Amino acid sequence: MAKKLKKVDVVVVGSGWAGGVVSAELAKAGYQVVTLERGKKQDRQDYIGVKDELRYTDRYEMMQNLSPETITSRVKIEDTALPVRTRAEMMAGTDLGGGSVHWAGATYRWRAIDFELRSKTIERYGKEKIPEGMTIQDWGITYDEMEPYYDKWEKTAGISGEPDPLGDKRSSDYPNPPMLASPAVKLFKETTERMGYHPFQVAAGNLSQAYTNPDGEKLNACMFCSYCTMYGCDFTAKSDPLATVIPTARKTGNCEIRTNSLVRRVLHKDGKATGVMFTDTRTGIEYEQPADVVVLGAFSFTNNRLLMLSEIGTQYDPATRKGTIGRNFNGQFNITFLGARGFFENKKFNLYMGAGALGGTLSDFAGDNFDHSNVDFINGGGIEMRQYGDGAISTNHVPSGTPKWGPEFKKNSIHYANRSLVAWYTPAVMSWWHNYVDLDPTYKDEYGDPLLRITNRYTDHDRNMAKFGIEKCSEIMKEMGADIIDEDEVPEEFDHIYSGGHYAGGIIMGADPETSAVNNYLQMWEMDNLFVVGGSAFPQFGGHHPTSTIGALAYRAAEGVEKYLKEGGQLAEAKQETLNA
Ligand SMILES: Cc1cc2nc3c(=O)[nH]c(=O)nc-3n(C[C@H](O)[C@H](O)[C@H](O)COP(=O)(O)OP(=O)(O)OC[C@H]3O[C@@H](n4cnc5c(N)ncnc54)[C@H](O)[C@@H]3O)c2cc1C
Ligand code: SF4
Repeated sequence: MAKKLKKVDVVVVGSGWAGGVVSAELAKAGYQVVTLERGKKQDRQDYIGVKDELRYTDRYEMMQNLSPETITSRVKIEDTALPVRTRAEMMAGTDLGGGSVHWAGATYRWRAIDFELRSKTIERYGKEKIPEGMTIQDWGITYDEMEPYYDKWEKTAGISGEPDPLGDKRSSDYPNPPMLASPAVKLFKETTERMGYHPFQVAAGNLSQAYTNPDGEKLNACMFCSYCTMYGCDFTAKSDPLATVIPTARKTGNCEIRTNSLVRRVLHKDGKATGVMFTDTRTGIEYEQPADVVVLGAFSFTNNRLLMLSEIGTQYDPATRKGTIGRNFNGQFNITFLGARGFFENKKFNLYMGAGALGGTLSDFAGDNFDHSNVDFINGGGIEMRQYGDGAISTNHVPSGTPKWGPEFKKNSIHYANRSLVAWYTPAVMSWWHNYVDLDPTYKDEYGDPLLRITNRYTDHDRNMAKFGIEKCSEIMKEMGADIIDEDEVPEEFDHIYSGGHYAGGIIMGADPETSAVNNYLQMWEMDNLFVVGGSAFPQFGGHHPTSTIGALAYRAAEGVEKYLKEGGQLAEAKQETLNA
């Protein structure tokens, strides 16, 4: 029998950007909050002196250990799914701050069209532009309504950037100027401008200067140390929850953050959440944390799995295409981030300096910034050239055809060490009736609970989009002066590699309870004191990195929880929508 703890106003599951923002905002507003995190306690100091490539880049020390709990994966509905067991194949964060600590920091607002993709596509190109089986839908919120939340998150995070010349309206500039452009970034920007595009600096969670955020948290200027993506920042120069929302939540005295607390069920009675059940992973003791409101901000996979394990809502069934829990699994991995790598004989760059989000980008082929009448896909994505900072052990770019060992391999490794750049496309990912999540009938975690099963396959739409992006990146590399260009290959089928951490959907937002699980405050239609926050709410994926949209949605949800605690009831009006699937 679980040990019952004292009731609080709000229990939040997860301490990344999603859970961290909600915890901080509600604690600031005076509510008693308990935040439960499955991983261990980490602080900024824990990342000092750990620039160890073997541990972090090669052995993925900051990622979830996939032995006790993982996902299972299959391509077709009739296949048997198998567990994904190596961290190179799936990267979810764990420990205090979650994946929001090891992220790279590339920050983009999603475009106005992303939030109304279905209706705007039909408006401009007609209904026939949306293929049968594609289950895209509007979010039940517009970009204009999202804008204040983006603005708030960017200020909390201290984002350094310059506006996208083709971007949507902003109420204010980024709080910090863009990072300094390296020669490689300058080359990308100058070249693409000459080609008639509209380049700009990638907006970054790596700070261009010292900054104090509106909550009084202080961040430092980035040192371009290179050990950024997949690492914690020991200069407090990468914006993450450990440097911002977690100390803000703690300072209020209203938020207790408990680590090593693996939440295993949302408890509920008579249509209301009553709290959560969690296990202390050090002792194995089970606890019940009662609360008036439960907020799940535990990354897409756990958000989905907890609802399924707790038997909340109706599981999506691909046979009938009905049910909202697990519907529209989507995300940027594997077939996304494809492009072209250029090798330069007469240009050298200092590639062993860099930062997670240092880079140039353009959005000429994103959203509806280009005419789709003659292309066989909808939406699009950004093109980026990033200078992450190469690693002595983990990076070894040589032109294709180079032997994998021997004198020629050695010669090319040394020759091209500072002579290769890559541009990639970050396309939007559409949702399909056959891509969804449910509980695996066979495989279980160490506590005997079923694992989450992903069913995901590619469509011609995905392949067409990837091919388009690779061609554009290759043209850019050529114009930049590359002597050898290696184009990525478009994979025929999904190979179960979930690289990059951009997984979404399953508990999607919308205006219609028939086709969405949460309303535009991230409040569940079926249980009004349960809020589910994060990428799980994306009905489909936009054409840029996700985290600023997750941060903005977290501010929106925090506002919703406060409203709910004051007024109760459903915060959004349900509307009926007609979908094509
Ligand atoms: C290598 C890498 C680079 C990335 N770079 C970028 C980038 O440049 N730009 C960008 O926009 N995005 C990037 N991302 C994605 C980004 O990390 C995520 O979008 C973001 O961290 C999601 O925030 P979140 O709060 O939803 O989840 P998380 O930050 O992962 O937080 C979820 C927390 O919930 C905890 N949790 C999970 N299950 C339970 C449970 N049962 N009980 C208790 N706690 C639980 C986890 O341990 C975790 O701490 C990157 C991801 C990876 C892997
Ligand atoms: S590159 Fe900058 S932001 Fe990234 S870890 Fe190094 S100092 Fe921190």
